[in-house]
Amino acid sequence: MTLLEVDNLKVTYETDDEPVHAVNDVSFTIDEGVNYGLAGESGSGKSTVAEALLGLLPGNGTVERGTIGFDGKDLTALSEAERRDILWEDIAYIPQSAMDSLDPVMSTGDQIAQAIHTHRNVTDSKARDRVRELFEIVGLDPDRIDDYPHEFSGGMRQRVTIAMALALEPDLIIADEPTTGLDVIVQDKIIDKILEIQERMDSSLLLITHEIGVIAETCDELSILYGGKVMEQGSVDNVLVNPTNPYTMGLKNSFPEIDEGEDPVAIPGSPPNLNGEPTACVFEDRCPFATEECGASHPDPVDLPNRNHRSACHRVKEAAQLRQAADDPET
Ligand code: ATP
Ligand code: MG
Repeated sequence: MTLLEVDNLKVTYETDDEPVHAVNDVSFTIDEGVNYGLAGESGSGKSTVAEALLGLLPGNGTVERGTIGFDGKDLTALSEAERRDILWEDIAYIPQSAMDSLDPVMSTGDQIAQAIHTHRNVTDSKARDRVRELFEIVGLDPDRIDDYPHEFSGGMRQRVTIAMALALEPDLIIADEPTTGLDVIVQDKIIDKILEIQERMDSSLLLITHEIGVIAETCDELSILYGGKVMEQGSVDNVLVNPTNPYTMGLKNSFPEIDEGEDPVAIPGSPPNLNGEPTACVFEDRCPFATEECGASHPDPVDLPNRNHRSACHRVKEAAQLRQAADDPET
């Protein structure tokens, strides 16, 4: 069963200069119980997608077009109040840098209890019991619910934000870079915790990260974003093992833990200018395989013959040769 269906989402930001076209016709679907990854370099539009889903775009951001189907409703058409009801109840959100966004002058337990009180008519002692339970679920000492954020380490603060996100047992958990800024061992523990809880609650996960290694380990399906466009999407096995898009190939080489033993190779060049609709493939100026056609228009995503694999590349039919050339740049 489909849980979330994003269709042709376009988001722009107004600025003093030209508008920024941050998300351009992004479509993807998350089925119930699926772990879905959203990957891409900094500035590719990952957080903008999440904020648009949740109706939490900053004041200068607008959903220009597209629909976001969730549980039979179009989230883009809801009133503020209706959207607030869905947020936390049905969709939980762990925002980017969440651990730094806790209120420093309120105890961590009170912050979670407040989130519970907003949605549930419960007594203070019931809410506190639930907070203790949530602390236990995320691996924090329940006797520390009266501690303040500064009394916890970064990894523990991130667990607090996860506990807060889980308070109401949502159907979908959206986690934006939940492990960025934490050391590797803590990162693994946090990811394991999210997976364990998500499995227990049978919710779906939208995991946003620039680290495709994390997605390879934890997700079933993914979309790779670049310059606000979906470059490639489908099952993790198809997209990350047999990429057909030169951008995915480049991204994979910059995170070689997927193919052990290789040295990381960053993609040369810098991300595209997002002022204006793309008139060429957004990756054209960085792509080692670009042809004239690539400079003339951005390619539409096409379904590949293997199930659950789509790619937006003018040279998609030659993907196997391109991949070989990418693996073996000397030849
Ligand atoms: P990161 O990995 O750094 O978190 P991201 O993939 O989440 O990056 P977004 O934060 O969604 O990227 O940003 C997409 C684009 O929109 C970027 O070019 C960014 O500079 C721009 N942008 C984001 N927020 C605003 C804003 N409030 N006003 C103007 N431009 C913005
Ligand atoms: Mg972001």
